[in-house]
Amino acid sequence: NRYITIKNHVDGAPQDSDFKLKSSPLSLSLDPGSHEVIVKNLYVSIDPYLLNRMKSYSFSQQSSAYAVAITPGEDIDAYGVGKVVASGNSKFDKGDIVAGLLKWGEFTVVKPGGMLNKLDLMGFPLSYHVGILGFSGLTAYAGLFEICKPKKGEKVFVSAALGSVGNLVGQFAKVLGCYVVGCAGSNAKVALLKEQLGIDDAFNYREETDLKSTLHRYFPDGIDIYFDNVGGHMQEAVLSNMNINGRIAVCGVISEYTDCGKRAAPSMIDVIYKRIKIQGFLAGDYLNLFGDFLSTTCDYLRTGKIQPLEDISDGVESIPSALINLFGGQNIGKKIVKIAQE
Ligand code: NDP
Repeated sequence: NRYITIKNHVDGAPQDSDFKLKSSPLSLSLDPGSHEVIVKNLYVSIDPYLLNRMKSYSFSQQSSAYAVAITPGEDIDAYGVGKVVASGNSKFDKGDIVAGLLKWGEFTVVKPGGMLNKLDLMGFPLSYHVGILGFSGLTAYAGLFEICKPKKGEKVFVSAALGSVGNLVGQFAKVLGCYVVGCAGSNAKVALLKEQLGIDDAFNYREETDLKSTLHRYFPDGIDIYFDNVGGHMQEAVLSNMNINGRIAVCGVISEYTDCGKRAAPSMIDVIYKRIKIQGFLAGDYLNLFGDFLSTTCDYLRTGKIQPLEDISDGVESIPSALINLFGGQNIGKKIVKIAQE
């Protein structure tokens, strides 16, 4: 069983030299009393938050056990889909297609109580269940609809707008009839947002020197909703462009994951005078919405109202570069690594 681990804690931007491909023997036979399940991993998710779990000062330790810190040398868990190859658990049979917390490797031994569910593909490719029909999709859906409560015609700004969560936020908001502007880190991404995804407008934040006036240019009448994937200076610039009673869903602050503690300081006076509602959230708290989210998203996909955006690399050895590239903005849509053929 080949799997990826970290050699050391990773406090700044991740590099190839932080990771190691390890191998250990794995027996595919299980004692029925073990209640364990062995899954052959097929697709695994690559998520920015995993970097926070790799830090020596782990965000996760500070934040009420949201996700446990990753110890150098140990295997790394991440969301994924796979196929059961051995089962000591009466709920699963060999051959079942499952989704859950798997490992960044070729196989996962899922302990009793581990997060694992049988997967109904509903006619969609397996990889969709890692991204658009998995946690990225639920994150976009819960953050936009539950936290921001958008209304038709409202003006929505989304950062990391061509990323996994961001592209869905923009697409969902467009289906509802909002005016949507996104930002991304290259001109090619800006073109894709406008031409392929039908987002009303977009800009390359790397080319802008004064984000407050940039946002004013794109939103002369102000922003009603900000879906924040990046934090930092963009968050600061957004606050001064928000409308009264605006809503901000703080989904992620990726610009702060690699900065070793330097932070922009958003102006709270805007929050007070404009009665802005800012709420952080975790998709995992909205599992009650999963059924609604899935039926809505499947319907939108089948009717062509939204489109899937995936960025898939091949093989367990490509996992480190897949994570590294998230922080360089090389991914377009959901970053997934295909580990094996079904
Ligand atoms: P993405 O697919 O959006 O990939 C990350 C993107 O972030 C990159 O493509 C890049 O795009 C952008 N980025 C990277 N570094 C920076 C930087 N320094 N400044 C600005 N932008 C940067 O990842 P996800 O969709 O998986 O995650 C998006 C955000 O949502 C993350 O912050 C993540 O932690 C968070 N998240 C939160 C969840 C929750 O439950 N709250 C669940 C899932 C994700 P570009 O620079 O080209 O715009």
